[in-house]
Order: sequence, then C-alpha cells, then structure tokens
Amino acid sequence: PRQFFVGGNFKMNPASREAKRTLIKTLNDAALDPSVGAQITFRFLTVYLTKDVKVAAQNCYVKLSGAFTGEISPSQLADAGIPYVVLGHSERRTLFHESSELVAQKTRVALDNGLSVILCVGETLSEREAEKTKEVVEKQLEPVTQQLKEADWQKIVIAYEPVWAIGTGKVASSAQAQQAHADIRAFLVKAVSPAVAESTRIIYGGSVTASNCKELATQKDVDGFLVGGASLKPEFVDIINATK
Ligand code: 13P
Repeated sequence: PRQFFVGGNFKMNPASREAKRTLIKTLNDAALDPSVGAQITFRFLTVYLTKDVKVAAQNCYVKLSGAFTGEISPSQLADAGIPYVVLGHSERRTLFHESSELVAQKTRVALDNGLSVILCVGETLSEREAEKTKEVVEKQLEPVTQQLKEADWQKIVIAYEPVWAIGTGKVASSAQAQQAHADIRAFLVKAVSPAVAESTRIIYGGSVTASNCKELATQKDVDGFLVGGASLKPEFVDIINATK
C-alpha cells in the first residue's frame, strides 16, 4: 500500500511572524496520524522542527551554485536538511514561465542532489472544457519520464492540481480527481513501468478543505493532498488526519 502523503503549501504566507508561530504551534500540539507523510513548504529556510511534520521547499533552481540572484540550489536545500522540494507548481509555470522541460531538468538535478520531489501537473479550465486534461497532463509528465530512470521514481510524489481548482473554492469532484489520477497511473504503466505506476503516490491539490478531504481520500488512486489555503488554518490537522 502507498503511504498517505499530505503537503501544506504555504506559498508566500503567512504575512507575519506571529501568524507563522501560531500555525506551527497548532501543528506541534496536534495529534497527527503518524502513518501519514506530512510536509509543509516554506519559501525561506526558516526551519521549525516539529514532531511529525517535515519542512519542504517550494522551488529550487536547476544549477548548483553561481551568480543566480534570488535562487536557491537543490544542494543548498539538501545541505539544510530539507527532504522535499515542490517543482512545477502551476503558479511557477504560469507566473514565472517555467516550461515542462525546465521542470524536468530541475527534477533531475534535485534528485541527483539528494532531494525528493513533489512534481505538480494539471490542466486549466479551458483545457478541461476542451477535454484535453489527459493530453495536457501527459505532456507535462513526458519530459520527466525522459529524464528519470526507474529507480528515481521512489523519490517522486506526483501532485495533480487542476488550475481551475487552485484557490477558487471549486474543488474537483471525487470522480474527477479519481479519473485524472487513474489516467496518470495508466500513463506511468506505459511510460515507465507497472511497478512504478503501482508504487508512486499521486496526491490531489486544489481547494482541499477539512470538509471535502475525507471523501476524496476514499478514492482508490488519491494518495494524499497538496493543500494551499487550508494549510494556513487549524483545519490542516483534520486534512492530515483524513484517513484516520
Ligand atoms: P488551494 O488549496 O488554496 O486551492 O491551493 C492548492 C495549491 O496550489 C497547493 O499547491
């Protein structure tokens, strides 16, 4: 069985140190399901050591060192004890023009430097309406399958995050999420191997809340969540514990 995995993507939040402290205290004090792999992503390396939750990064660069002002390298993250990095988030793809090829290169370099990767994919509303979801997601994954060897996949978690569901309050239905995740798994069977398809966690992101997470979590191919807005609230604890 695949270990349930929940990430809290804080994005460029919270705005104050005070709010951040409160949030971390809530997580530290909560009774979290110990069988869940939980990660929270901080933009900067303010590392708060918590009992059960680990700290991840929201992005990294494709080079290891050099004159790249404002960027952080995968080896610097690994050196700081950060186990995971999120790559290919839709906000990076859209606002910062990251191509699937760049995301694939970053994935390769991150793995080579000891990081695990939460790799984000997902379609826009117009792509879904044009029934292109499967095609779009496969195009995003293809360059990654070319960069990776079979053994590398142990260190990859795929996050399916439909762009129309991110920050909109419009969560995908359980059926929509299940279909997209099953399609990704079927793609992995073809593009990598049946064993990798079976063992790779595919988590869902986009308007996940304490009230919709339990039903989503019952879906066969939903192996966890990547949570934005709700990860900044006490209800994040209930999302981590969705399968309890
Ligand atoms: P929301 O949960 O705020 O929709 O954000 C999802 C997301 O982008 C997680 O990476």
